[in-house]
Amino acid sequence: MSGGFTAARIAALLWAVSAPLAAQSKDVSKAAATITAKDVARRINVIADDSMRGRDTPSPGLDMTAQYIASQFKSFGLRPGGDSGGYLQRYPLVRRQLLAERSFVELTEVSGQGSIVLPYTTSVRQWLGETNGTPVTAGLLLVGGRPDPSKFPADSLLKGKFLVWVVDTADIPKFGNAMVIKGMTAGVAGIIAISNRDATELAKDAAQASRVRVSRGGAEPPAGGVPLVVEVTQAAVVAQLPQALDMFNPMNASPEMIVVPMPDWEATVMAADTVLGNATAPNVVGILEGTDPVLKHEYIVFSAHMDHIGISAGKPDSINNGADDDGSGTVGVLELAEAFSKKKAATKRSLIFLTVSGEEKGLWGSAYFASHPPVALANVVADLNMDMIGRNWPDTIAVIGREYSSLGPTLDSVTTDHKSLNMTPIGDPWPEERIFFRSDHYNFARAGVPILFFTSGLHPDYHEPSDSPDKIGYEKEARLLQLIFWTGQAVGNAAAKPTWNPGALEQVQQAR
Ligand SMILES: [Zn+2]
Repeated sequence: MSGGFTAARIAALLWAVSAPLAAQSKDVSKAAATITAKDVARRINVIADDSMRGRDTPSPGLDMTAQYIASQFKSFGLRPGGDSGGYLQRYPLVRRQLLAERSFVELTEVSGQGSIVLPYTTSVRQWLGETNGTPVTAGLLLVGGRPDPSKFPADSLLKGKFLVWVVDTADIPKFGNAMVIKGMTAGVAGIIAISNRDATELAKDAAQASRVRVSRGGAEPPAGGVPLVVEVTQAAVVAQLPQALDMFNPMNASPEMIVVPMPDWEATVMAADTVLGNATAPNVVGILEGTDPVLKHEYIVFSAHMDHIGISAGKPDSINNGADDDGSGTVGVLELAEAFSKKKAATKRSLIFLTVSGEEKGLWGSAYFASHPPVALANVVADLNMDMIGRNWPDTIAVIGREYSSLGPTLDSVTTDHKSLNMTPIGDPWPEERIFFRSDHYNFARAGVPILFFTSGLHPDYHEPSDSPDKIGYEKEARLLQLIFWTGQAVGNAAAKPTWNPGALEQVQQAR
């Protein structure tokens, strides 16, 4: 008696076929479960410890952080993806010092009627931006009052211009960020804030201009860089051009934004400096080889920035710990690297675990990685980037860029399959912040790599010493990282690589 496909025999056959799969998915579930609140807490407390001194780029604290991450990558068994067989990839920087006595801001009436020259020694405070010692001359657009995105002219009209911002000093902290973001995304030549600050107070700040600054070395393409931002006083302008007062007064009084084209005027900013020497800063790169002989030549990058803004001298607690920004994302990369390195948890595609630096200075590390990748960028099929994922909502995560590629629907189906994680991805809730352009995934997207950017958004401790580990939702972050782990599993094992939606890449590349 044999040959009959009895129910028992069918069951036995099915079991034989499905057993390896079940065992494998059990292994993968076990790997996911290594991402715990306790681990997240332990590692954030290392990275955001006072001993890391705020992880400025470059700094000994940043190097210590990079060493810690490299040692973790090594313990997971990742292959080094950095320089000369190590985990660190170092990029060149230049230390510069401003020469205030040779630097100035000049406003010129093009028809030759005259000009106003404001020297850095007494009348200019340089807030932001890189300079290279050559004068920048451009047309200008006068803007008054609080910046309002809906009232700005099109980016194409702002591009290459100086925004001359007539502003009440009290409004600078409130609206400065919005102004800089607008300037950055529109590609302006710079921002000249003309404030009603007391001239002697500004003169005191002007003295700080001679402090040593760091900028990118080598011939790196500009990407995500912050524009040049200087402040001068209305009093100093009026002293040389009394009729300017008639323009400044209504602008100071207006609660609404006012934009005045000034076709007859142009501005020149000359920030002369001297090069003191060279420096470098690290990225950390670890690679986990894929299990499929063909698909392993494709790569998924998991990224976050490990740098922060260093120390704010003069505050009682002066160390900016950057627990959420971006200790949370950095730990995310570590947790994911650990989980994917567990038995049978590697995917068919290879995975690159990347922590970059210089993000806070203008996406420096990711720009360098994208132009000096350890594998051809054409073989990188996705970047999953994490920046500030430890605060705010316990059960929701903003996923920027999900509408641009097939990664969005993949994330949605993974979310449905893992409802028990209780984590719902939503689209960009803050379009006016233009977050798509403000973290490291942007350097992948502009190079053609589909991205997802996970963030739980800003909070009052953003860029303050109070961004400390005790405020992180460790349990929530662990659940979110498990969702990202399963998304990595889905993308890493799918037959087809992620694709841009029609027109989306062009939209991303033209947006700046
Ligand atoms: Zn950040």
